Amino acid sequence: PAHGELLLQVQAVRKEFGGLVAVNDVSFELRAGEIVGLIGPNGAGKSTTFNLVTGVLGLTSGQVRYRGQDIAGLPSRAIARKGISRTFQHVKMIPEMTVLENVALGGYLRGRTGSVRAMLRLDRDEEKRLFAEAERQLARIGMADRMHELAGNLALGPQRLMEIARALCTDPALLLLDEPAAGLRHKEKQALGDVLRQLKSEGMSLLLVEHDMEFVMGLTDRIVVMEFGTNLMEGTPPEVQASPAVRAAYLGT
Ligand code: ADP
Ligand code: MG
Repeated sequence: PAHGELLLQVQAVRKEFGGLVAVNDVSFELRAGEIVGLIGPNGAGKSTTFNLVTGVLGLTSGQVRYRGQDIAGLPSRAIARKGISRTFQHVKMIPEMTVLENVALGGYLRGRTGSVRAMLRLDRDEEKRLFAEAERQLARIGMADRMHELAGNLALGPQRLMEIARALCTDPALLLLDEPAAGLRHKEKQALGDVLRQLKSEGMSLLLVEHDMEFVMGLTDRIVVMEFGTNLMEGTPPEVQASPAVRAAYLGT
């Protein structure tokens, strides 16, 4: 996508779980080349919004468009193929496998059927291609020297980077990250921030949910603030920081 192209449009999206309204009415946009932050208190509906955009959940009502195309209700595999990829709030990995294997396997499960039976039928060429791609993405984010370590032996910071590498294997134009800095040490946050800025400089667009205000303010071009399943406000980091409504709802000051 060309820089500045309208990439993602979330319009009046709503999600109910039984009687509970997890996302009431959320709307926002993201343009190619932007890093947009999605912030808000716990339970505001941020992860659910990610799940709706990436097809992990079906929506109750509303529209999601990617490059002008309606993608609401498409299975997550189809959405991944269109160019949207994501990480989850909790690291998903097989700790007994190497970093490289985790990344390669993730690429396979996302790109294809996801069934174990199909996985066992993986042909040689396909396997080679997946491992080559995994290696390329790990090198891209500076993890080439750790790819043969067991994933379970990594600290949380490198595990999160491993997940980003896995998400990159489907060659996305838009990457959604759910709380990538949560629980990381200062140095790990810096390393993560560097990787995300590098991806942006390579033309990637990013949408990230994050609680760490310093991290969000230093990294994003624009911030969407959610509260009770809806948009509270939207603006540049300084605008959001200065907003009395945001301070009252979220920053607690
Ligand atoms: P956030 O990521 O902003 O903390 P979530 O999107 O995880 O918020 O959750 C929003 C609301 O929806 C919460 O009240 C949560 O308990 C509820 N919720 C999320 N997922 C489910 C689910 N699968 N079933 C029922 N309720 C859910
Ligand atoms: Mg969440």
